Amino acid sequence: MKVLVINTGSSSLRYQLIDTEKDYVLAKGLCERIGIEGPFLKHVVEEDEILIECEMGTHRQALERVLETIIYTEPAPIKSLDEIDAIGHRIVHGGEYFTDAVLIDETVKEHIAECAKLAPLHNPSHLMAIEGCEELMPGKPQVAVFDTAFHQTMPPMAYMYAIPYEYYDKHKVRKYGFHGTSHKYVARRAAEMIGKPIEELKIITCHLGNGASVTAIKNGKSIDTSMGFTPLAGLVMGSRSGNIDPAIVSYIAENENITATEVTEILNKKSGLLAISGISNDIRDIEKAMDEGNERAKRAYDTFAYRVRLYIGQYSASLGGIDVLVFTAGIGENSARMRKKMVEGLEYIGIKIDDEKNQVHGVEADISADDSKVKTLVIPTNEELMIAEDTERIVKKELLKKQNK
Ligand code: ADP
Repeated sequence: MKVLVINTGSSSLRYQLIDTEKDYVLAKGLCERIGIEGPFLKHVVEEDEILIECEMGTHRQALERVLETIIYTEPAPIKSLDEIDAIGHRIVHGGEYFTDAVLIDETVKEHIAECAKLAPLHNPSHLMAIEGCEELMPGKPQVAVFDTAFHQTMPPMAYMYAIPYEYYDKHKVRKYGFHGTSHKYVARRAAEMIGKPIEELKIITCHLGNGASVTAIKNGKSIDTSMGFTPLAGLVMGSRSGNIDPAIVSYIAENENITATEVTEILNKKSGLLAISGISNDIRDIEKAMDEGNERAKRAYDTFAYRVRLYIGQYSASLGGIDVLVFTAGIGENSARMRKKMVEGLEYIGIKIDDEKNQVHGVEADISADDSKVKTLVIPTNEELMIAEDTERIVKKELLKKQNK
């Protein structure tokens, strides 16, 4: 099946055309600066990369440019849009409505629109892309794959906040968790790599990119995760604070004479590694500064690693042990030094890595020491492939349902 995967951000649109039979990316690219000055489209087919500067005032226009580019730019991987079998959309927030990917219909669209309250920067652009596809490729099956769906298996004790119950009832304030597609993908790959059924494993997955989260997975299901009502919770991230004492918000607001909304903006954009180091949100810059003797860079680095280590400990308690630990995303896949730091002192729960095997970057690898009880794996994430496979699964399931009617 040829699946077009679409991933919209507030001012961007990423796409991949994937042949699911061959696990092969036929074309990929991204549109940036949609609706702002200087928009451009980067399109890649095999080794060929082109940059197109063109008018993209809305996500709908960006989508038109993408579809034209896919079929008219040589070497064209397909000659007509008819060759696309289905479209898979990454949707950030599905609230409590969706526990799995779904075929998009009017009700699904209404629910995505309702969840825009919970993800105001993302869900509206997802809807624009869905409606754009409906107009430009009428009748083509479209599937929504939610970042939140994988975590809907969490029990209430993991997702409830101990605040007045009416906030949950009225405003749906609870833990949702994010990065679900990535956690699901790497957990599944981990089970394949060690040759055991996922249903028999206790897995902790660490998705450590600019945004970062840890998930506890028991028998293939998420039972807890570090992000919360929003992606601000949990780990120290590039520019996000992660967990802090909630009383800090009003304290800073009063003392700096700013609003709570402004504090939240600071916690999202000017905190994390960037704030503690005073240098950068990028772990590479921090590692370099540390080597040059910068004390604040070291403090940021250690705090990041410590928080991840705490979550691994917490989640081994939630799971009642741990069989597999997975590192993924920019930092998890690439920084051998950070991986070593994060697992320091975790021998007591059976985690021991091999320094030599740990020297890998961006490839699948088992980095466990030979005598380690727990398997520690590096697995590059592939959210687009997971979305394409989920799309294929849902479309085929719906076809079967129709045939059996
Ligand atoms: P996101 O998708 O959340 O924006 P990524 O998964 O691309 O983030 O991860 C970005 C982070 O990964 C960078 O900020 C950087 O700290 C880290 N990173 C990327 N490449 C390397 C590398 N070669 N060595 C160490 N860290 C890296």
